[in-house]
Amino acid sequence: MQLTHEHKELYRTVKTFVEGELNPHIAEWEQAGIFPAHEVMKKMGDLGLLGITKPTQYGGLGLDYSYEVLFAQALGNCNCGSLPMAIGVQTDMATPALARFGSHELRKEYLEPAIRGDMVVSIAVSEAGAGSDVANIKTTARKDGGDYVISGSKMWITNGTQSDWACMLVNTSDGKPHLNKSLIVVPMDAKGIDRKTKLDKLGMRASDTAMIFLDEVRVPQRNLIGQEGMGFTYQMLQFQEERLFGAASGIDGLFNVINETIAYTGQRQAFGQSVLDNQYVHFRLAELRTEVEALKALVYQTTEEYLSGKHSPEHIAMLASMCKLKVGRVSREVTDACLQFWGGQGFMWDNVVTRAYRDTRVVSIGGGADEVMLGIICKMMGILPGKKKFEQMKAARDSRAA
Ligand SMILES: Cc1cc2nc3c(=O)[nH]c(=O)nc-3n(C[C@H](O)[C@H](O)[C@H](O)COP(=O)(O)OP(=O)(O)OC[C@H]3O[C@@H](n4cnc5c(N)ncnc54)[C@H](O)[C@@H]3O)c2cc1C
Repeated sequence: MQLTHEHKELYRTVKTFVEGELNPHIAEWEQAGIFPAHEVMKKMGDLGLLGITKPTQYGGLGLDYSYEVLFAQALGNCNCGSLPMAIGVQTDMATPALARFGSHELRKEYLEPAIRGDMVVSIAVSEAGAGSDVANIKTTARKDGGDYVISGSKMWITNGTQSDWACMLVNTSDGKPHLNKSLIVVPMDAKGIDRKTKLDKLGMRASDTAMIFLDEVRVPQRNLIGQEGMGFTYQMLQFQEERLFGAASGIDGLFNVINETIAYTGQRQAFGQSVLDNQYVHFRLAELRTEVEALKALVYQTTEEYLSGKHSPEHIAMLASMCKLKVGRVSREVTDACLQFWGGQGFMWDNVVTRAYRDTRVVSIGGGADEVMLGIICKMMGILPGKKKFEQMKAARDSRAA
């Protein structure tokens, strides 16, 4: 991926914002178990950072996805994982489907303020009984007059106690699980919503993660995103950007963990020399750096191939899944190995490397666990049992397109 002057300027702007506006407050927000989402989003909206790839008609910058990747990478300079995750929910997880498939009126009402930073947003897909198995969600929306009436619950929802609206996946009919779902914009102040339960987590402590209960919640039918029954498909598309964003936002944080570890082990003395001077330690750090460079190269290559328009959606889905798998695996490897080299200090709660160890653990779980990514990669490689079925689906789609 060729980086232009504009890419570098965007990266610099975001890194400066992270260092000046976010990092000084991280310890306080980690302690509080929440960050002031409205305040942060507004500052970012004012800088034009929340709609980099979104249509200019709704206040976005209308740039291609390579700029979003640089944005995500720069966010990785935050001294915790919570803020990049929460901001990524706003820009790349909860709003892509609305931007692509929502009606003009819906985009005016909900996308535009999200881009301005006047509204905070959540993506509500997972349920207590259905995380990996998205098709198995149980929350339903039935039609009544001009409304949908929604009942059920959602689990582990990022920004969930603070968001103004959620992009929610619900069952709108009893049909086949991949064809009976819809994405609906649900205002979080609607009557019948209970989102008081903030979950206590191992990491990502500055991010509020909520359980949401919906009891006969009325939402106008015009809040449907795109077509009814297409929710599963839209969500799978939305996941591509979520996964690329997640991988890109992991890169700089891992470089920083390695650099912090070099600095610490370089001055820490044991057995008459610095810890870093042990060949095992500096060779290992060189290996870890190589792994993060490989992750970065894969993210950049995936972005380039995605933007080229020359590859099938299946190929891009495979590469995006590989990025997601790789960032989870590399994060675990880097943070665990570096924490070890910090010795007892690495076991202290507020150490930046310890925080990265805790925060990045979720990368292999959220937004599609490693094993789900492996399943997608195998499917695209044609080595998953049931491959025939996939090839038939692809052939049917290709013949429709022709
Ligand atoms: C901090 C945090 C923030 C989150 N934010 C959001 C959010 O904003 N919105 C949202 O909708 N969700 C969110 N989630 C939920 C997240 O996406 C799910 O936790 C994730 O998809 C995994 O689902 P699950 O927890 O139900 O695990 P399960 O589906 O119960 O799976 C448990 C484990 O089983 C294994 N497994 C699953 N499927 C397979 C398979 N096919 N083959 C082999 N092994 C398998 C994996 O190891 C997996 O980790 C968040 C979660 C966390 C922890």
